[in-house]
Amino acid sequence: MIIHKSTNPRISSFDPENFSFGNTFIDHMIICEFEDGKWGDVQLVPYGQLPFSPAMMGVNYGQACFEGMKAYKDKDGKVFLFRPEKNFARINKSASRLAMPEVTEEMFLEGLKALVDIDRNWIPQGEGMSLYIRPLIFATEEALKARIANKYMFAIVATPAKSYYTEPVSVKISDFYSRAANGGVGSAKAAGNYAASFYPTKLAMEEGYDQIIWTDDSTHEFFEESGTMNVFVRINDKIYTPPTSEKILDGITRDSFIALANKRGIEMKIEPISVKAVVEAQKNGTLKEVWGVGTAVVTSVFQALGYKGEKLMLPILTLEDSFALTLQKDLVDIQTNNAEDPFGWRV
Ligand code: PMP
Repeated sequence: MIIHKSTNPRISSFDPENFSFGNTFIDHMIICEFEDGKWGDVQLVPYGQLPFSPAMMGVNYGQACFEGMKAYKDKDGKVFLFRPEKNFARINKSASRLAMPEVTEEMFLEGLKALVDIDRNWIPQGEGMSLYIRPLIFATEEALKARIANKYMFAIVATPAKSYYTEPVSVKISDFYSRAANGGVGSAKAAGNYAASFYPTKLAMEEGYDQIIWTDDSTHEFFEESGTMNVFVRINDKIYTPPTSEKILDGITRDSFIALANKRGIEMKIEPISVKAVVEAQKNGTLKEVWGVGTAVVTSVFQALGYKGEKLMLPILTLEDSFALTLQKDLVDIQTNNAEDPFGWRV
């Protein structure tokens, strides 16, 4: 790895009590270029702008995919990544689906470790605090030709993140728009998936909702995901989540929630969730909780589901009664080294 340390670090002006998530970048980044059929040297360099042409294929034809993951600092100042090998596997799955070159384990994991290590002072400490890390691959070739590009960049940038705590939200069950289709790219973290979700989400917000529950594209009768999260439903004391598929992103938080529920002996069913069953359960009082999970906020609890013009309200449970919050706590305790790690998830 080639290392160029910043001669002008900004860390001394970073205030962990007062910063803007997503706009504050740590002092360094990782970059690596793909050309002539191979990846070059991994470089750890000062964070900054890069020169690209508007004819860059990544922005014209959308060959771009990314990951989202976090580093956590425990009370003794030790730093951990959470299941990074899962993000490594998933970025390569996304890259393959978009006909982009896969990255090597060394580039991905060693790049991550070097970056987090050099900028460990940027990782805020305390409940819910973390460093949000964004590995990405995009086509850099300058050519207006709709074909597989020959040049790419792999990069890792990172931004400090605040408390995961979020207010309960209202979500609209989609009866028209879809996030993914059979044979499509739903299971990839393709940049274009996010672009395509913004317009339907904006319409849902204009109706007073915070997010969308995506349903299947052919019938809109089954839950798929919620916003940029996987979705869980609790009816009585059973939890349901749809099986992953080519239309559903294989979320690492989802996978961890399933393992933690099994460990606690909570019944977890991985099966299709029909909108009809959820609406019926809400009407007869057996629908206890619906929530989304993802790296960014861990858990987003839903207080209302919008369906065909009706707002179906959900009870807001305390930590003691809520499966969502209990599993969230179990997970955060492992991530932040507040509890044993029986699964070996911390790195
Ligand atoms: N679904 C989508 C569409 C997402 O963008 C994300 C965030 N990566 C998730 C689910 C949750 O995945 P993870 O738990 O790995 O963050």
